[in-house]
Amino acid sequence: MIYNPKSLKAEEFINDEEINETLKYVDENKNNLELIDKILEKAKLKKGLNHREASVLLACENKEKIDEMYNLAEQIKKDFYGNRIVMFAPLYLSNYCVNGCLYCPYHLKNKNIPRKKLTQEEVKKEVIALQNMGHKRLAIEAGEDPVNNPIEYILDCIKTIYSIKHKNGAIRRVNVNIAATTVENYKKLKDAGIGTYILFQETYHKKSYEYLHPTGPKHNYDYHTEAMDRAMDAGIDDVGIGVLFGLEKYRYEFAGLLMHAEHFEAVHGVGPHTISVPRVKKADDINPSDFDDSLSDEMFCKIVACIRIAVPYTGMIISTRENQEIREKVIRLGISQISGGSRTSVGGYAEEERPHDTEQFDVSDDRTLDEVVNWLMSLGYIPSFCTACYREGRTGDRFMSLCKSGQIQNCCHPNALMTLKEFLMDYATSNTKKIGEELIEKEINNIGKDEVKKIVRERLQKIEKGERDFRF
Ligand code: SAM
Repeated sequence: MIYNPKSLKAEEFINDEEINETLKYVDENKNNLELIDKILEKAKLKKGLNHREASVLLACENKEKIDEMYNLAEQIKKDFYGNRIVMFAPLYLSNYCVNGCLYCPYHLKNKNIPRKKLTQEEVKKEVIALQNMGHKRLAIEAGEDPVNNPIEYILDCIKTIYSIKHKNGAIRRVNVNIAATTVENYKKLKDAGIGTYILFQETYHKKSYEYLHPTGPKHNYDYHTEAMDRAMDAGIDDVGIGVLFGLEKYRYEFAGLLMHAEHFEAVHGVGPHTISVPRVKKADDINPSDFDDSLSDEMFCKIVACIRIAVPYTGMIISTRENQEIREKVIRLGISQISGGSRTSVGGYAEEERPHDTEQFDVSDDRTLDEVVNWLMSLGYIPSFCTACYREGRTGDRFMSLCKSGQIQNCCHPNALMTLKEFLMDYATSNTKKIGEELIEKEINNIGKDEVKKIVRERLQKIEKGERDFRF
């Protein structure tokens, strides 16, 4: 197998030999300060790095250079994402699953965990609970089970979710995280109006992948790795990738992840819309220490910073798998989207108490959405409930070219302020509202164009009077 980012064969675009050669090159050069300076100079152009260059930075042990890297990651984050953080919540539809993933409690052989699949009535209850918190953007999650969770079930759920308008609430963007499927099914998801299609690679290392997925359709490494190409062929512009850190050596995964992004650019002319950085967590019959490639918090932060530098235009997501302290650190270094108030159990939002029996993994940040919003604002960020881009057709390469030219800021910043205002009016506690109003007032002044400033002020007043859903 020869490395070829343009190939449509998994083992050619995620090429084991190329990754191993990269790791060898990295070992030889991790303290080569001349090379590191050169790479940092290139990185400062903010046009990204390739997998080899970024892998050298990740391995670099020089404290001064690492600080330089962190500062650069922070600067790139500010330049492309400002101080906005997009908010979302996962919605677990079903934990039926026919796969045998060794790290996931939903695996077929787990008989401890009660199996549950939401009915459309229950989906409605979950969505109302999520709307009542203030969420506008969801990521739906389901195990892989062609009998219990066929594509028609997922499509029904999407339809139900978009149809519910409770009080001033609405879910305006549904991202989908379901198992690899066919072009035909991806077309159906596209027609259902999904936002991003998310699929984690789990591990790019083929042998480990096959060991970790011993049974079920997910065992097929090539089918899984080539899934995003099928999704894009089906017309889904925005795809989200990630690895489950802890399963394999992080340097291998890091190189694989960036090679995957390079492959998208080479074949589809546009990189991934988002990259997620989950780490293996404790769950029902899962003990993370069984996976001996777990990452220190320090290295985790360095990975986030190096991804930020390598792919400046790609959104980065962190979930409630991480605690408040880690979230605070990585938001600064590159994360642009976070979940809040999450429940990882099927039917968990409609329940008063946090239920654990059907959870996919333990949540490390169990604050309410209001608390998370309040916290973000106290750190100087603008929590954004914006979903405008894909509703305005700003997806795929259109989104990326606006992002690359910096123009996206002209929409995102005002949209963030207007959607935050909606949250403050409809869902916030009085203290959050007070902090939020002050923040909006301050941030209006950072809108570059006077004309836009004027429109935003008018719209904020209209939101006060009860109108909703303005966007640029
Ligand atoms: N079943 C779908 C698939 O096959 O891709 C995706 C849905 S699954 C609910 C979402 C993700 O949760 C998985 O891709 C995996 O990376 C992650 N996950 C599974 N077990 C986990 C654990 N113990 N800790 C943290 N994340 C986990």
